[in-house]
Amino acid sequence: MAAPVRVCVGRLGTFDFPAGLYAYTGSALRNLEARVSRHLARAKKLHWHIDYLLAAPGVRVCEVRRHGAAECVVNQQVAGEIPVKGFGASDCRAGCGSHLKRLR
Ligand SMILES: [Zn+2]
Repeated sequence: MAAPVRVCVGRLGTFDFPAGLYAYTGSALRNLEARVSRHLARAKKLHWHIDYLLAAPGVRVCEVRRHGAAECVVNQQVAGEIPVKGFGASDCRAGCGSHLKRLR
């Protein structure tokens, strides 16, 4: 995120995201390639929290990493601050707090 941006994240609410580098952790038990391609596509119906963020001006994906571990395990290994409580974590049962973190 090159500049701060205000984003309406569906029913979660509207939030101000400071400029910076963020890490989002998600999972796809089937069809991982299709899910990643969907996240990288600009034109799509907004469904997940991350869709709203990626559709905002000035927001771009700089890297995609694949892990074998469960998303919550990976997410909890990411050191960063939580910009929006509950982001991408609607069905999280591991107490992550958010699946989006701001790295710097
Ligand atoms: Zn989690």
